Amino acid sequence: MIVAGGGIIGLACAWRLARSGLPVTLFDARELAAEASWAAAGMLAPGGEMDEDNPLTAMALRSLAQYPEFLRELLEASGAAVEYRRCGAVTLAFTEDEAAALEEKAARQTAIGIPSETIAHAGAAAARFYPADALVNPRDMTAALRTACVRSGVVIREYEPVLEILGAGAGIRTSRGEYRGEGVLIASGAWSSGLVTGLVTGLVTGLVTGLDPKTVLPASLPIRGHLIAWQAPTMLLDPILRHADTYVLQRQCRSGRPGRVIAGGSTEYAGFDRTLDERICADIHARAARLLPALAAMGPAERWNGFRPATDGDTPAIGRIPFTSIWTAFGHYRNGILLAPETARMIAESVTAG
Ligand code: FAD
Repeated sequence: MIVAGGGIIGLACAWRLARSGLPVTLFDARELAAEASWAAAGMLAPGGEMDEDNPLTAMALRSLAQYPEFLRELLEASGAAVEYRRCGAVTLAFTEDEAAALEEKAARQTAIGIPSETIAHAGAAAARFYPADALVNPRDMTAALRTACVRSGVVIREYEPVLEILGAGAGIRTSRGEYRGEGVLIASGAWSSGLVTGLVTGLVTGLVTGLDPKTVLPASLPIRGHLIAWQAPTMLLDPILRHADTYVLQRQCRSGRPGRVIAGGSTEYAGFDRTLDERICADIHARAARLLPALAAMGPAERWNGFRPATDGDTPAIGRIPFTSIWTAFGHYRNGILLAPETARMIAESVTAG
């Protein structure tokens, strides 16, 4: 099996496919996991993202439930521990209107299996605690996945972008030559459409999305997001704090020592422009300081941005293109870290079913 793209999705799929006994070669245009999966905050937080009863929410809840076991197997396979905390999250409302909207949203979420409870929070008109939301360190996780892939026999080829898919998935062409395989998985994040263009068929099975099989494969597109981080001498917060588009979280080192405080976010239609926008960083800093006032006087230690892989169809494209040996796993947008275990399970199941 050939996997095009070594972010968290391509790595998780490659590991699961190799564990199913398939020979796997993983190609990346750069070094592995240097794009969205490196930029991500690492929230595993359906409570902050989902309030609709649809297949994507169901998939997110399945994936969240798999995390502890997935990480236990990953530790066994790689020997590398990954920071993971079921720390919960607190959503704040600052006005009476926001408080009413928060209550309504919580009622919808309770009905679809996302529990929360009212709590008191100084300075807020209302607050709710989401006990199931969690945190993982995506950079730890992709490093562990890389080791697990290598130990499972996955051949890794970095700085070798896939340029074209041959036939109906019989192989690929890169700048260095042609490679043949039993099938191809497109897991190139925001860049995936570049590989889809030119494919004879434009159809995808709706394994997750419930799409009609005749639905045209959605196009991938980048949605840029900035994050900023501070070095903190103590644990300033435990649960994730969030309000509207702003969130603040703190990592904890494996030794138990306080890790970096990270705040986001922004949603920008800027193509693949990697320029750091000072204005956006300053705005995130001001919004984060409203949630955690200690941040107001602290200077950020790091700022960065990345490209969330969105699709024009609003749902990820996960499944097999009918009548071909081409699978797709892209378009996870804001939740690719959360959705990685379940995406890998679904792809391995679909590929091994033949
Ligand atoms: P990527 O990680 O982008 O990987 C795609 C890979 O494909 C790259 O390594 C790239 O080099 C490679 N590639 C591209 N073209 C080719 C080619 N032609 N051939 C071979 N390889 C190719 N999600 C969460 O669940 N929780 C969060 O808290 C969270 N926070 C985020 C914050 C920010 C600022 C951003 C940007 C994203 C965040 N996300 C979060 C979303 C999450 O990061 C993504 O959904 C996820 O990383 C997507 O993984 P991926 O493997 O599909 O894409």
